[in-house]
Amino acid sequence: MLINEYKPGREFMGRLDYGSDLFLSLLSLVKEKDIKVGVIKVIGACKKSVVAIYDQEEKKYRNVTLEKPMEIVSCIGNVSTAQGKPALHLHIVLADHEGKAFGGHLLEGTEIFAGEFYIKELIGPTLERNHDEVTGLNLWI
Ligand code: ZN
Repeated sequence: MLINEYKPGREFMGRLDYGSDLFLSLLSLVKEKDIKVGVIKVIGACKKSVVAIYDQEEKKYRNVTLEKPMEIVSCIGNVSTAQGKPALHLHIVLADHEGKAFGGHLLEGTEIFAGEFYIKELIGPTLERNHDEVTGLNLWI
């Protein structure tokens, strides 16, 4: 188990632009504000979404593109680093017009209809992602 202790840092809250890419907008914000470690929460709606589901047997992500309006019921994740650069790990739960949910690991390509974000910076040790042989994932090592 890996456990680090952090103190609260800055907090940001705001609105994402119509038509913007959810993942890339958050990544550029994290870079602009120089956030090394933190947590992210987003709610809203998107016009199109791209998520991935990890196949634990094959150790590969299976990408799914949904070309329809969906509600962003919940998108949560964290900020850390990989090769010293900011890395976002975000999961998203989306709901269709009937409220049926679909979710996965958020990728680039999710186009915002409306989005409200909250980012909290944490002050303390950096968390660096590296390839983990057992899972095939980039984990904090
Ligand atoms: Zn993930």
